[in-house]
Amino acid sequence: MSPEAPLRLPRVQVSADRVIGELVGLRPYRPGGFVVRPEVMDGKLVIHNYGHGGCGLGFSWGTSQLALEEALKAESRECAVLGCGAVGLSAGILLQRHGFQVTIYARDLPPNTTSNIAGGLWLPYFVGDEGSLTPAFREQFQAAARHAHRHFRSLVGSHYGVRWVDSYFTAEERVAVPCYFDDLPELFPRAAAFGPGEHPFPRRHARRFGTMQIQTPGYMRAIERDFRTAGGRIVVREFRNVRQILELAEPTVVNCTGLGSRELFGDTELLPARGQMTVLLPQPEVDYILGIDAEALYMIPREDGILLGGTFERGIWDTTPNPHEAERIFQGHRTFSDNMEKP
Ligand SMILES: Cc1cc2nc3c(=O)[nH]c(=O)nc-3n(C[C@H](O)[C@H](O)[C@H](O)COP(=O)(O)OP(=O)(O)OC[C@H]3O[C@@H](n4cnc5c(N)ncnc54)[C@H](O)[C@@H]3O)c2cc1C
Repeated sequence: MSPEAPLRLPRVQVSADRVIGELVGLRPYRPGGFVVRPEVMDGKLVIHNYGHGGCGLGFSWGTSQLALEEALKAESRECAVLGCGAVGLSAGILLQRHGFQVTIYARDLPPNTTSNIAGGLWLPYFVGDEGSLTPAFREQFQAAARHAHRHFRSLVGSHYGVRWVDSYFTAEERVAVPCYFDDLPELFPRAAAFGPGEHPFPRRHARRFGTMQIQTPGYMRAIERDFRTAGGRIVVREFRNVRQILELAEPTVVNCTGLGSRELFGDTELLPARGQMTVLLPQPEVDYILGIDAEALYMIPREDGILLGGTFERGIWDTTPNPHEAERIFQGHRTFSDNMEKP
């Protein structure tokens, strides 16, 4: 039973004349979850920090904090960071704040990274396959979640484009949430369950919690600027193999190459999980996030447009928008929106 009066929410206007684009990106997905661990290779300390699946934007500061703790154990304060997505930039900034001289080496820079495609929801979704997450991973995951959440709370405001927003997940049956929600209740305030007749959605059940939302394009620009302003160097370079990495002058390397770690470090568990979204014209009055039917469809309202997702296609490397998926997403959202109760 909801603790509050009837919930009224504006509908998303899903119509063909409001479509302004399609976005496709490849999540760096590992069924066993992300990798944060040190490894000594030919005398060089390599700290891995990759494989964040569908939560790399939100979890970046958390896993980078764990990577930093490993880097602080080394004597040298000179460090190379591989990769210039959200994970590489957050690692670079944290290292700088702890006295490191940092150079980022990357093939692609913002805005041409997967991180720039992220919808911007702070939520540990698509972290890994629940059955494959070990107790050791879940412990590391919780530490990363708390660090990341605390860091993003400190970024709330227009400068970084981070804000609090309500998220609603709806389903015909009970709304399932991942196992780790129960481990971290303090990270999901305003939690409430709504039954039939207590919400405006055309499904029987809805579940709400407060979370943070990141305006991805502006956020990526802001953190790249922070890194450069603090004296960080960014070098455009593609590594073809691990040998080229071990030849770098820096004695410590933090590996934030996302999906690139599959080839570079031979991690065959790492897969692309393709995500496609349709972008509609912005609708400033829509200020809630929506998940429909166990992750099949979602809606994220951003300043630059309403993002309608989505897909999660394992093992697909193609980043060309798929018209059939675009149609499924569009029709699914249109039917949902048309059948929502009017505010
Ligand atoms: C459709 C979609 C929606 C998403 N929504 C969200 C969301 O709402 N919230 C969220 O938290 N996450 C979301 N994600 C997931 C998020 O985008 C990823 O988890 C995140 O971008 C991973 O960050 P990263 O820095 O590890 O990788 P990337 O951003 O891919 O950066 C990797 C860097 O490594 C470099 N690199 C790779 N290989 C090499 C090489 N051989 N040599 C040199 N450089 C190399 C690249 O050039 C790049 O600079 C979404 C993803 C998609 C596709």
